[in-house]
Amino acid sequence: LADRLQSTIKKMTGKGKVSEQDVKVMAREVRLALLEADVNFKVVKEFVNNIRTRAVGAEVMESLTPGQQVIKIVKEELTALMGGEQSKIAVADRPPTVIMMVGLQGAGKTTTTGKLANLLRKKHNRKPLLVAADVYRPAAVDQLKTVGKQLNIPVFEKGTDANPVEIANEAIQYAKEEHLDYVIIDTAGRLHIDTDLMDELYQIKQNLSPDEIFLVVDSMTGQDAVNVAENFNEQLDITGVILTKLDGDTRGGAALSIKSVTNKPIKFIGMGEKLDQLEDFHPDRMASRILGMGDVLSLIEKAEATIDEKKAKELEDKMRSASFDFDDFLEQMEQVRSMGPLDELLSLLPGANKMKGLKNVQLDDKQLVHVEAIIKSMTKQERKDPSLMNPSRKKRIAQGSGRPIAEVNRLIKQFNEMRKMMKQMSGMTGGKKGKRRKG
Ligand code: GDP
Ligand code: MG
Repeated sequence: LADRLQSTIKKMTGKGKVSEQDVKVMAREVRLALLEADVNFKVVKEFVNNIRTRAVGAEVMESLTPGQQVIKIVKEELTALMGGEQSKIAVADRPPTVIMMVGLQGAGKTTTTGKLANLLRKKHNRKPLLVAADVYRPAAVDQLKTVGKQLNIPVFEKGTDANPVEIANEAIQYAKEEHLDYVIIDTAGRLHIDTDLMDELYQIKQNLSPDEIFLVVDSMTGQDAVNVAENFNEQLDITGVILTKLDGDTRGGAALSIKSVTNKPIKFIGMGEKLDQLEDFHPDRMASRILGMGDVLSLIEKAEATIDEKKAKELEDKMRSASFDFDDFLEQMEQVRSMGPLDELLSLLPGANKMKGLKNVQLDDKQLVHVEAIIKSMTKQERKDPSLMNPSRKKRIAQGSGRPIAEVNRLIKQFNEMRKMMKQMSGMTGGKKGKRRKG
């Protein structure tokens, strides 16, 4: 998924304007990428429609950097698709909180039971109890005991003779006596969904009224995981999904489809075989991961921080009328800080790319901090009218900002050059040459 989306996104980022045709092409690419990732086709259809509507709508067409805006929309929609806000784990009014783990054999139930107990203890300072209610295979009970021993977390078991409802009830009683606050029940699985299994799980559910029923699914099984989730949810009305083996899943199809197919949130993700490799599920982070980001992510952040159109227009007017002063400069810098180099900001302005000379006005991030210090050491009048500058004022500014006088000189010189270029530009683009506020 990442590859295909990424190349689509790369094509979009460079765009200054996005036409309906662009959106069409992009929507097709996103659609193919999702289908390739084994995302449920109904989910894909809705998703692509949402993106298309939003992308063609005003929010893109009027924004400064439509290419980035479109990516932002894709990310937001991916996040929404996976559940938006991250959801929390239940806490019973009266302890213990009972969690029932269900899922097919091999999905990772037993491992995840241990991982979840470990996470509850470590992150939430809880005292969990593991319950071996998979009574069909002696090995299953032993496996959970081994997990418990590794973590030094108690395991309640009665071998393979008792029935799961009895075991679970006794375990809850035991937890109350021992003041343990979470009871996590590892139930039996089957290779495929069958009525016997569902009946048994349903019995447990009816008898215990668990606070959470977590379905454990193997993300590497893609669309099958989604079908399993749909089925378990119909029969048991699960409260959440834990996606395992995400460390081996390169497509992300299950993660993307489960929420919209079952309307149940993904709560945790398994990121490896080790017992500390269970993480909270964050839809926004997963969306970033799916977009394969790093550099793409930072572009989105930039888009989010992008100055709004009105501000840009004001700035442009000031540039045209050459009344741009140090205060404007400072205000812009504050925005530039989160966005990148000044020349990049200026390149966002219409017409600014025609000004080749701008290349000389480069400022990097560290310099920006210094520049800010220097400008803040200027008086109000000095900021409005740089022509006031003389050696004694410059010396005072240098002392006030703690920067060398040469740097103060350089900044003033650069600023003056910039103003000169702005005047040239306003001439070039037919601005009113004579209209000046000062100087
Ligand atoms: P159960 O039959 O549902 O109880 O599944 P198990 O807990 O026995 O796990 C089946 C296999 O999946 C074991 O080899 C686990 O180590 C492995 N496993 C479980 N979760 C993860 C995970 O998040 N990542 C990886 N790589 N392996 C996992
Ligand atoms: Mg098991």
